[in-house]
Amino acid sequence: MYFHTSIEVGLLAQHMWTEKYDLHSHSTNSDGQHPVEDVAHMMSESNVRYWSLTDHDTISGWDAAQTAAEANGMVFIPGVEITCMPGLPAESSILELRNQERASDSWHLLAYFPSMEFQSEQHQQFKSWLAPLGEGRIPRMMTMIEKLAELGMPVDFQAVSARAGDSVGRPHLADEMMALGYVNTRQEAFDLWIGDGKPAHISRPQPSIVEACSAVHAAGGITSLAHPLYYCIDTETLVAFCLESGVDAIECFHRSHSDAYRFQLWSAAKDSGLSVTCGSDFHGTRYNQMPGRMAVPTMTLPPSLNN
Ligand SMILES: [Zn+2]
Ligand SMILES: [Zn+2]
Repeated sequence: MYFHTSIEVGLLAQHMWTEKYDLHSHSTNSDGQHPVEDVAHMMSESNVRYWSLTDHDTISGWDAAQTAAEANGMVFIPGVEITCMPGLPAESSILELRNQERASDSWHLLAYFPSMEFQSEQHQQFKSWLAPLGEGRIPRMMTMIEKLAELGMPVDFQAVSARAGDSVGRPHLADEMMALGYVNTRQEAFDLWIGDGKPAHISRPQPSIVEACSAVHAAGGITSLAHPLYYCIDTETLVAFCLESGVDAIECFHRSHSDAYRFQLWSAAKDSGLSVTCGSDFHGTRYNQMPGRMAVPTMTLPPSLNN
C-alpha cells in the first residue's frame, strides 16, 4: 500500500492547472467586436469562472460586466489594460532574430481590482486618473489622418481601423500608407511622417509603468505586464524590470505566446517571486479568436485572484 506524504500532496497542488480564468478580454467599450453581455456569455460557454474585462484605458464596461458575469455564473474581476510608455528599449538582437523593424510603441499594463467597491472613493480616484488616458486613442488617429491629408496624403480611417487586430495605432497607419504607395516601408512612414516629432505626429499622454503601478496600487489593485512577447526584451531583463517597477505579475500565458515562451517566462517569474496571469486577449470572433481555454498553474496566480 502506498500513502502520499504531505510533501507529495503539496507538490501535486503546486502543479495543478486550471482553465477557469480568463483575465484579458475586450468589448465594444474599446476595440472589441462584441458588447460586454456577449463577451460574458461566450466566456461562460468556454467554462471560464473568473473573468476580467480589460478594455483599453477605460473602465466604462465594469457595471455591465458585473451584471453579465453574475447572470452567467461567473466571478467578475474588474480590470483595465493601461497603455504605458515603453519600459525599456527593444533589444536589437531580438528584433533581428524575429526579422522585425521595431517593437510596439507602448507597453500594456493590466490592472485588476478584485476587492474594488464600486462608487467608493478609491473607485472614483482611479477613474479620474484614467480618464485623460482613455480619451486619446481614436481622436488622435483622426487628427494624424487630417494632418496627412493636409500634407497631400489622404488616408481612409476605416481602412486603418480594419488593419488593427488589437487597438488602432501608428503601425496600422504606417501599413495603410505603404499600401497607398506614400512610403516604401513601415519604417519610412515613421521616419518621415508619423514618428515622434514628425510632421503628422500627435502625441498623447502615456504614464510610465511605475506611475501606472502606483495609481493602481493606491486604488487597492494589482498589475500584470501584458503580452511581453511584443516588447522584444530578454526574459531575465524583463523580470528584473518588473521587480524594480512594482509590477506584481507577468502575463506569461497570453494567446500569442508559444508553449516554449510561456514556460520560459513562467519559470523565470516563479523563481523571482512574481505571480503570473493568463489571458486570451479576446477581441472577437471576427479575428478568429476565442475566449477562455487558457491553462495556468493555479499556485502561481496572484494570491488575491486565486480562489
Ligand atoms: Zn495589449
Ligand atoms: Zn488586450
